[in-house]
Amino acid sequence: MKSIYLDHAASTPVHPEVAQEMMNVMTGQFGNASSVHAFGRSAKRTVSSARDRIAKYLGCHPDELVFTGGGTESDNLALFGVLAAMDGAGKHVVTSSIEHHAVLHACEELEKQGYRVTYLPVDGTGRVRAEDVEQALTEDTALISIMYANNEVGTVQPIREIGELARARGVLFHVDAVQALGAIPISLRDLPVDLMSFSAHKINGPQGIGALYVRRGVHLAPRLHGGLQEKKRRAGTENMAGIAGFAKAVQIASAHLEERREHDLMLRDTLIRLLEQEIGQDAFIVNGHPSEFLPHILNISFPATDTETLLMNLDLEGIAAASGSACTSGSLELSHVLQAMKLPQNVLRSAIRFSFGLGNTTEDMEYTAQKIATILRRLRIRS
Ligand code: PLP
Repeated sequence: MKSIYLDHAASTPVHPEVAQEMMNVMTGQFGNASSVHAFGRSAKRTVSSARDRIAKYLGCHPDELVFTGGGTESDNLALFGVLAAMDGAGKHVVTSSIEHHAVLHACEELEKQGYRVTYLPVDGTGRVRAEDVEQALTEDTALISIMYANNEVGTVQPIREIGELARARGVLFHVDAVQALGAIPISLRDLPVDLMSFSAHKINGPQGIGALYVRRGVHLAPRLHGGLQEKKRRAGTENMAGIAGFAKAVQIASAHLEERREHDLMLRDTLIRLLEQEIGQDAFIVNGHPSEFLPHILNISFPATDTETLLMNLDLEGIAAASGSACTSGSLELSHVLQAMKLPQNVLRSAIRFSFGLGNTTEDMEYTAQKIATILRRLRIRS
């Protein structure tokens, strides 16, 4: 049976060159980057070289990057870290209702600690309005946290506009760029952003490693206490192989950004076109923004069925797709993102996320469209 992976927004296969780089580090180097002997110095060089390469691509200073255990930790470090460093000077946070749970659940925890959080609405395409951000700001606002692009529907947010008004009002701005990295160009030099979260496993790097960009001058209180690593911002022996793999993944992603974009757009268009042929354009609805979207994320509702039935049937045909956000799939609860977009119930309850990446081909799209048509026919006969 075929096996087609269309869940790259959840996690991606590690690129062979990344795996090789990590293998070289794991077998050739075992020192601790904090040790003063030659082994330690060599480990330190590996970590610094990786940091330099990632910083160069992102357009920031190497010392503005803090390595973390992934996107979730980066989001948590950003929110709790800057607020703790402010020591209660601002007790209000502005975020959106479509953030990843790494931000939303962190905000709920902040509320328990006495912070006030505004969860902004989005329009029907999943986009936050900059005017809403502006209106939500108060004298007490300490931080704005809005994602670069959404992980369920791919909608890209007006980050520059929000960043400019944050600057004008002197409010710190955090951006979760976990899905945007490797999909659209990011230049921190040109963006009015103070903190940005990244994760390696969404760009064909290893799981369990990520980074938080912290603009020079932004104070961040550590969440982990221990050694002096990461300029006292994140204690713990560095994940050297993970960091080296992350840098390799960033290098590969940056070298192939345009190529990947075109390939993903082609796959996306192909799947939509084939679905139109196979089941007719009235049988499905594409969710998200018509132009401001990440090319690798395609969210489609099939109102004749429901998410769970379709996902299970696709799985039986060897096709791996997703529902809702990655971390809640499996439990299949209704997506908070699609709910915030106020989609009709039948659209909300029948949405599937297809996300493309390394290894996907036009043939995969043909197979997927055919199988969807077969499944929908079978379900119609049964009902
Ligand atoms: N933020 C977004 C937008 C994501 O899509 C994800 C992962 O799905 C995360 C944060 C969490 O990243 P990680 O899995 O590296 O903890």
